[in-house]
Amino acid sequence: MYDNNNIFAKIIAKEVPADFVYEDDKLIAIKDIEPQAPVHILVIPKGEYIDFEEFIEKASYQDKTHYYNTLKEIANKECGEHFRLVTNNGAWAGQTVFHFHTHILGGKNLAPTLG
Ligand code: AMP
Repeated sequence: MYDNNNIFAKIIAKEVPADFVYEDDKLIAIKDIEPQAPVHILVIPKGEYIDFEEFIEKASYQDKTHYYNTLKEIANKECGEHFRLVTNNGAWAGQTVFHFHTHILGGKNLAPTLG
């Protein structure tokens, strides 16, 4: 079940400060507090979805389209044409904050993480 005490819920509610890159009525984008690349941004929907699976299953088609179109615009603006997108779905995959989000990682010559 979704726990609204998670850190991203508090950032969305402006109870905890963050370095905002973008905000609209549906989502926020903030700088990751522990960047793993020269550019490291988190794109977070305002709706209460635990993980990617729940977002895909429960969000409306319009909200999903808006989320991924805006994610692309932010990635292009902040990183140009070269960037990596990461979503950890579930604790075994490395998810630590249980409010769905996508990492945008950018900067020259990112080390490969797979293969
Ligand atoms: P994940 O492990 O995929 O759930 O990603 C959670 C991310 O949230 C990690 O990269 C953390 O560094 C980041 N994070 C945790 N707390 C904050 C915060 N207060 N502001 C910005 N990023 C945060």
